[in-house]
Amino acid sequence: MLEIHQFPCLEDNYGILVHDPESGETTTIDTPDADAILAACAAKGWRLTQIWNTHWHPDHAGGNAPLKEKTGCLITGPAEVSRIGMAPDRVVVEGDGVHLGEAQAAVIDVGGHTLGHIAYYIAKENVGFVGDSLFALGCGRMFEGEPKQFWTSLSKLAALPDDTTLYCAHEYTASNAKFALSVDPDNAALQTRAEEIKRLRAANKPTVPMVLAEEKRTNPFLRAPILKARLGMADAPDHEAFARIREMKDNFR
Ligand code: ZN
Ligand code: FE
Repeated sequence: MLEIHQFPCLEDNYGILVHDPESGETTTIDTPDADAILAACAAKGWRLTQIWNTHWHPDHAGGNAPLKEKTGCLITGPAEVSRIGMAPDRVVVEGDGVHLGEAQAAVIDVGGHTLGHIAYYIAKENVGFVGDSLFALGCGRMFEGEPKQFWTSLSKLAALPDDTTLYCAHEYTASNAKFALSVDPDNAALQTRAEEIKRLRAANKPTVPMVLAEEKRTNPFLRAPILKARLGMADAPDHEAFARIREMKDNFR
């Protein structure tokens, strides 16, 4: 069994450490803040041996260089990570396997937020690390990709087993919930979840990780095919409905 430790980082990021007690290996999912990651490792008594990057953005790969320098850890990530000055030791693409001791993660291409964004999925542990592709009740901004690409990416995540636990990289859920309620106001599961999110955030508790089944019931981006009719796009392809919802979210105040 792997141990997963999540902690708040920077303004609204989460740091995530994954530890394999058997081999003693520890990986950080992305590197939002090198000092915070080293402090979290020290508090746990874990030694950082790997970095798994999801995409090149500074709040995800900005700590690679100092962590590499201080620990000599092995960096795995998409080729685009070299855009911020430190190429991964191992560049991976969809279909590749990444190891933490005996545990194996599959790389899934989830491009859209950035072109080369990847997710790591550990089937045996029922857990996925999705960076800024899918958020609780949201998804990443489409900075580099196209609607069809991003929709394909989200569809791959939606096709994982319903009970998959997903770790995303930001605590954006409360504001995502407001938007979700505006486009999907009659969704009872969403209303219930929005109340739960209010309660959690008022108690300063995280809403991450999330469970895929709940996301499929309540996340307006995953529900694009269902929300189509409401948007007056009943005959449009799913990715166009997704694109419309993404655009509405970009302009939502
Ligand atoms: Zn990002
Ligand atoms: Fe981010």
